[in-house]
Amino acid sequence: MRHRLFQRCLAPRQTARGALVDPFLKVVDAPGVFVVGDAASVIQNEHPVPGVAQAAIQEGRYVGRLIAKELMERKVKRPFCYFDKGNMAVVGKNYAVLERGWLRTSGSLTWLVWAFVHIISLPQLQNRLRVQRQWLWSYFTGQRSSRLIPEPPRTPGTANDYPS
Ligand SMILES: Cc1cc2nc3c(=O)[nH]c(=O)nc-3n(C[C@H](O)[C@H](O)[C@H](O)COP(=O)(O)OP(=O)(O)OC[C@H]3O[C@@H](n4cnc5c(N)ncnc54)[C@H](O)[C@@H]3O)c2cc1C
Repeated sequence: MRHRLFQRCLAPRQTARGALVDPFLKVVDAPGVFVVGDAASVIQNEHPVPGVAQAAIQEGRYVGRLIAKELMERKVKRPFCYFDKGNMAVVGKNYAVLERGWLRTSGSLTWLVWAFVHIISLPQLQNRLRVQRQWLWSYFTGQRSSRLIPEPPRTPGTANDYPS
């Protein structure tokens, strides 16, 4: 479920997929607001950019550079352009599939490639080590950790409500 602040601010600019953004990933009719990743509805060549991690990473990098340039009062001319690096998916334990252009592979070696690519893509060594540790734990024990963000119960007219 999307965060209430997001729903409140961007509701008029939302599509079924997410907030509608222009080619520079700025929310349409909301100057200074950028949305990236799964929360954004990015259209490129009349097709939606897929809701996958590589799109979110590329969009995040693009917006980071764009903001840096704008702070230096330099004009950004090049709109965001999604580069499809191919697809990988895990299908059960020790098995993954990979497709990139003409290349299609599957099996346990592909699964190792999948794991390596995902770990190496994480920012900071600390995160890589933490995720590696969690994956090894899950692999050998079969247990998964959950990441839940509980919200306090909502009562109308209390401090839990955002000001309108
Ligand atoms: C089951 C599943 C499998 C997937 N498999 C693949 C795959 O194999 N390959 C692939 O490329 N993509 C896959 N995806 C899609 C990929 O995970 C998303 O496209 C990508 O994570 C989007 O990145 P994001 O930064 O937009 O959102 P997220 O990665 O979801 O990051 C959002 C972050 O915001 C945090 N957050 C949420 N609410 C709040 C709040 N109120 N306050 C503070 N923090 C908050 C969350 O904890 C989270 O860390 C999968 C998705 C799912 C659900």
